[in-house]
Amino acid sequence: MNLNIGVIKGDGIGPEIVTEAMKVLDRTAKIYGHTCDYTQLLLGGASIDVHGVPLTDETIAGAKKCDAVLMGSIGGDAKTSPWYQLEPSKRPEAGLLAIRKALNLFANLRPAILYDELKGACPLKEEITEGGFDLMIMRELTGGLYFGERKTVTEDGVLTAYDSLTYNENEIRRIAKRAFDIAMKRGKKVTSVDKANVLDSSRLWRKVVEEVAAGYPEVSLTHMLVDNCAMQLVKNPKQFDVVLTENMFGDILSDEASMVTGSIGMLASASLNETKFGLYEPSGGSAPDIAGKGIANPIATILSAAMMLRFSFDLDKEADAIESAVAKVLKEGYRTIDIMSEGKTQVGTAEMGDLIASHLA
Ligand code: NAD
Repeated sequence: MNLNIGVIKGDGIGPEIVTEAMKVLDRTAKIYGHTCDYTQLLLGGASIDVHGVPLTDETIAGAKKCDAVLMGSIGGDAKTSPWYQLEPSKRPEAGLLAIRKALNLFANLRPAILYDELKGACPLKEEITEGGFDLMIMRELTGGLYFGERKTVTEDGVLTAYDSLTYNENEIRRIAKRAFDIAMKRGKKVTSVDKANVLDSSRLWRKVVEEVAAGYPEVSLTHMLVDNCAMQLVKNPKQFDVVLTENMFGDILSDEASMVTGSIGMLASASLNETKFGLYEPSGGSAPDIAGKGIANPIATILSAAMMLRFSFDLDKEADAIESAVAKVLKEGYRTIDIMSEGKTQVGTAEMGDLIASHLA
């Protein structure tokens, strides 16, 4: 298979960590008889330096021609970088929001995996984390409270603010389908999170999710109220497989879930649209404090590349191989500085990429 991949190396540690992910992708492709065709695209600070704007039509058109895009992080140090002298709409982060919108990326996936070897970094008690956990938060990204009508007015002399939370059944159905498709590739369990005891939008959410579930008899569905879910994520994260939820609940729960894993350099993510296309990137930022030092952890980006193989190319075997190579390297005691602990072997960005590539087969 020829994999037509757009690459946005980005800013800060972006180029370093994306280079390692490409190294692992190339090695995987070689082992399994595929070829990778990369198109380099500019976004964020790197685009400002060349074009004066964080996102060009050329980058959008280039991304649309690819089957998937692998991205490093974008942005710089807001205190020292000249990019932040520009007006907000011309800064690096504006490019990121605009490309997500231009590509209609409505489903955000954030896996939270606790490897047994890294459980020391997890703030939860050992009896809760024993054996690790592996869950996926699936957040609706383009609707709900963050995109609803809002206004601030004075009513009877009192300042009053309104934000509206709106979902239509189509928006709910398309993300629910995505969640069930993904559950079929994992533990076949969906927990749909809402606030149906209070909100109309949640009652519609629950109804449509149940309709979609009827088409997936192999997947078990449970509903959970968002306040309970926030508690369960720290009380018993092992109970979850795919957690499906709307935009604001997902914003909060995905950060909570990732924090219980303990390390930002390990967190992959993906944003998908209605087709197989997706944008795959580490959850962390561009880490300008360590950029260029060769010490950044490339694992989040490498795991994002594995997600790309699984969800955009349906190459599950290849994705499994990358994920188990990461687990093997951790088991053998290799660590980048951010996940280093006593008695382990510290390695740099490129060495970690080499190790994972060499453990693929
Ligand atoms: P950050 O995630 O870049 O860094 C926070 C801390 O985590 C830093 O100490 C950093 O060194 C460390 N860190 C992050 N990734 C790491 C890795 N792979 N390996 C080792 N250590 C790692 O967050 P920040 O400092 O708040 O933001 C820096 C820049 O990144 C800002 O311009 C921000 O806007 C941008 N940002 C971009 C994205 C994105 O591209 N999706 C996301 C978040 C932040």
